Amino acid sequence: MPLNVLLLGPQGAGKGTQADRISAEYGIPHVATGEMLRAAIAAGTELGRTVESIVNAGELVPDDLMISLIRDRLARDDTDAGFVLDGFPRTTAQAEALDAMFNEIGRTFNVVFSLQIPDEVAFERLRRRAKVEGRADDTDDAIHRRLDNYHRETEPLIEYYRTRGNLVTIHADRSENEVFTEIQRALDHVAVTR
Ligand code: AMP
Repeated sequence: MPLNVLLLGPQGAGKGTQADRISAEYGIPHVATGEMLRAAIAAGTELGRTVESIVNAGELVPDDLMISLIRDRLARDDTDAGFVLDGFPRTTAQAEALDAMFNEIGRTFNVVFSLQIPDEVAFERLRRRAKVEGRADDTDDAIHRRLDNYHRETEPLIEYYRTRGNLVTIHADRSENEVFTEIQRALDHVAVTR
């Protein structure tokens, strides 16, 4: 059975880092919508040109564009054994569209992780990353906008998935290894019970 994993959490909670580790450990692709958009922008595709100013400002890309991006990505056969999703869904409309896609192809999330971290810690981590990676959306203004958008649009999804019964909450204000150990414990439990 495939292993389908979702990581929810604010920017700076470590979703990308943990998703990479899950991907390496369990042999499933890391699907990160932010990375896909940055690649499209760098390549100057039509999608890239459409979303560039939105992404750089730290705003959310319209749901219809994101839903069709993820629909195409999950149709590729490297996801047959599962995937770890990072950055999508970010709104209730996206979560509902994903549910509809999952229903069509008979999938569910085995585990949804909610990585929790105080805003001050997230903010400081993002400012540090800005110095290292120089991402265009790691300016103070864009960071504030992204954290605001997270609380308004994405945080309600924690309840959405809690009621569906597969939510695991993780305190992410700890070392990368400590967080990964806890994630692994939950995934290894799923691996024997699924
Ligand atoms: P991330 O790397 O996940 O922080 O995403 C970087 C940026 O890409 C976000 O601030 C949004 O502008 C855009 N983005 C990524 N995923 C989504 C999504 N699911 N819905 C809307 N916008 C998104």
